[in-house]
Amino acid sequence: LTGSLQQLTEFGIIGLFSQQVGARPAWVSTGIGDDCAVLDLGGEKRLLVTCDMLVEGVHFLSDRISPRQLGQKSIAVNASDIAAMGGEPLAAFLGLGLTPQTSAEYVRAFRDGLLEGCRELGVELLGGDTVATRTDLAVSITLLGQVRAEEVVLRSGARPGDLLFLGGNVGDSAAGLRLLLHPDLILPPEHREALLRAHLEPRPQLRLGRFLASHRLAHSLIDVSDGLLQDLGHICASSGVGARVDCARLPISVSATEAASRSGLDPRDFALYGGEDYVLLFSAAPQDEDQIRDGGRALGLEVHPIGEITAEAGVSVLRDGRWVSPEREGYDHFR
Ligand code: ADP
Ligand code: MG
Repeated sequence: LTGSLQQLTEFGIIGLFSQQVGARPAWVSTGIGDDCAVLDLGGEKRLLVTCDMLVEGVHFLSDRISPRQLGQKSIAVNASDIAAMGGEPLAAFLGLGLTPQTSAEYVRAFRDGLLEGCRELGVELLGGDTVATRTDLAVSITLLGQVRAEEVVLRSGARPGDLLFLGGNVGDSAAGLRLLLHPDLILPPEHREALLRAHLEPRPQLRLGRFLASHRLAHSLIDVSDGLLQDLGHICASSGVGARVDCARLPISVSATEAASRSGLDPRDFALYGGEDYVLLFSAAPQDEDQIRDGGRALGLEVHPIGEITAEAGVSVLRDGRWVSPEREGYDHFR
């Protein structure tokens, strides 16, 4: 590894750590490259492990998100990766880097949010580590979960002919971020609140993940954290397939549409490239569409078919009557 990090992409860097030398131990069912690692320790259940980090100035601005919201969001984004395996979360380990400026009240409020999030999601906080940092607050959570062996859903199971589904709106979180960064943007309060909530208080789709897994409906599954097209790209790369997405079918809220138009932007760009939506993206057999949409409704969710999986590689997007190959894919920490 020579030269500047800018010459590598985020996934190029991850690749440095995922090079496999020799055979994997038998207890590794799935290693680096999915939303969670899957460990086979014997028995009917698999252990799921995921780790996500939030850093001040990169993932959040401490004057735009309350410490309580930060606590809740930290656990929510990790639980979203458990949902993306079809699992249920169990235990969290909290790595906390606090600056000399962090106040005791801030830490208490963060703790309240984190523990409330844990309670809501059925997670026990069982450990962690606490250190001082020079300038920026950092939160790293390792979350363990479980799922029955035959219910694990990977990114790699997509098949040509599958329909592609989204478990909820995409673009709200990006629109909410836009509002945070442009406080002068005028928007009716109901839209403003909905978008800020999507960005600051995401809710992982654990029940949808369990529904899809327990009924074996999803062939492939991921949560949308880096942007729809980037995360779809991960499903396609892992599965050795391509995909077509119809922009006209993307679930984009009125609030996001309103925020985009008042910013002179196209809401479809929020939806395709935005990230941090934490909704599930999955592929399934076309004949299961009704069961999937009914099951979603029973959970209070509208599940939307947005396109299909193709045998030929590459993702193409139908936009204003033309098929285009998306030029930029989503968020990369090193670009
Ligand atoms: P997600 O968005 O679902 O959390 P990421 O895109 O962050 O997934 O990571 C992709 C894969 O790379 C995951 O399996 C993750 O565990 C792994 N990964 C990311 N960073 C590292 C690292 N520094 N060392 C080892 N594995 C990593
Ligand atoms: Mg994920």
